[in-house]
Amino acid sequence: MNNEEVVRKATDAGILLVTFLYCDNGGVIRGKSSHIYGLANRIDSGIGLTVAMQAMSDNDDLQPIDGMGPKGEIRLVPDPNTFTLLPYAPKRAVMMADMHTLDRKPWAACPRDFLKKQIDRAGKMGLNIQAAFEPEWSLARRDGDGFAPIDESLCFSGVGMTESMAVIDDIVVALDAQGLQVEQYYPELGHGQQELTIGHADALRAADNHIVYRETVRNIARQHDLYASFAPKPFPDQSGNGCHIHISLWDEQAERNLFYDSDGRHGLSQMGYQFIGGVLAHLRGLVALTAPSVNSYRRLIPNSWSSAFVCYGPDNREAAVRIPSGYWGNEMASANLELKPSDSSANPYLALGGLISAGLDGITNNTIPSLDLEIDVDPTTLPDGELQRRGIVNLPRSLDEAVRALEEDVTLMESLGPTLSEAYLAIRRADAKLFSENDQSFEIRRHFNKF
Ligand code: GLU
Ligand code: MG
Repeated sequence: MNNEEVVRKATDAGILLVTFLYCDNGGVIRGKSSHIYGLANRIDSGIGLTVAMQAMSDNDDLQPIDGMGPKGEIRLVPDPNTFTLLPYAPKRAVMMADMHTLDRKPWAACPRDFLKKQIDRAGKMGLNIQAAFEPEWSLARRDGDGFAPIDESLCFSGVGMTESMAVIDDIVVALDAQGLQVEQYYPELGHGQQELTIGHADALRAADNHIVYRETVRNIARQHDLYASFAPKPFPDQSGNGCHIHISLWDEQAERNLFYDSDGRHGLSQMGYQFIGGVLAHLRGLVALTAPSVNSYRRLIPNSWSSAFVCYGPDNREAAVRIPSGYWGNEMASANLELKPSDSSANPYLALGGLISAGLDGITNNTIPSLDLEIDVDPTTLPDGELQRRGIVNLPRSLDEAVRALEEDVTLMESLGPTLSEAYLAIRRADAKLFSENDQSFEIRRHFNKF
């Protein structure tokens, strides 16, 4: 779609406001809207945004980053290919925006541009990346000052389906109408917890889709007088909300899945193992991008099926990288890798871009992971000393630890570049400090309805 088509489509649909959306370094979706009257100009010229927005930690606490203070302006320039009418808000539409400098170049602190760069790097290696975000989230009601899950239903249970049927059906209709291919739905393990998955797409589209998804679920829940929490651990005594990332690499024509090899161990190709090797080599820093909130580390604990150790395994839900079994009759197309230590408090552009950067590094350096890192059981059931003998280390146990690992990861830091990484690390450090000085209920309250 080009800009004129966007304006025509918005006008024909009776749209009044078109929001240019972006996701910031804190994982928060934000935007500015143009009235239809000025849309034709705004699509070209963008909407002005203060450079400070990429330096906001929790509660919009501006961090002192050089060049991200009160002086300075960028433009939010919408991508016409992402224009979407909102079925739940008939007068509104959204477009995903890139951040441009005033001389019309991508801004070095733009997360969407960071992902595009990683996709380009893969393209230069002849690789087309397909990805899907697999979100879990909790449906809740207001309960005094806080929130309570809408049900106490059991995993995949019919009762859970009954309790949330009206809101889930509205969400499915709305996602379908926005071109997101719904694949599966079920009530998950935790009270009020839901999982509704979307099919894979080109990497940039997959990250855009996750923004559309979060917006849709949150809005439709509100229309049912409910809250959908994407926090990694909104209820400390319940199962956490993951947002596992599925990824596969294809040839340039997107016809052949290069992760598939019928003769490979677990049906995975040499390139698939190289990708795993790269991800595991960078995983302790990578989680600062994929599980980046203080609340994320309440989820990443052993025996939670969210992973707590740097290892991989076939269909092993306690391994950080799972090799999912292929589907009958669809073995080639369904070959993929699943990153478990990832959640929806992440900025999907930074999370997926970081994952690609780590995996490509593994391919470039032929980092085949040692068989010692392949785990077929729950790692905590291994005999004493076995993890150590195999060289399996734990994931960071706190945001602080993850941030330090990211700072030390030369590959990821170079991929992010100095402008983006400096701002990112500063706000993550500020969040780590703030929440270490406050209690659990403060942490839950601040994360519950933020994403
Ligand atoms: N809720 C689990 C997590 O936090 C995932 C459960 C599963 O779908 O395997 O990642
Ligand atoms: Mg699940």
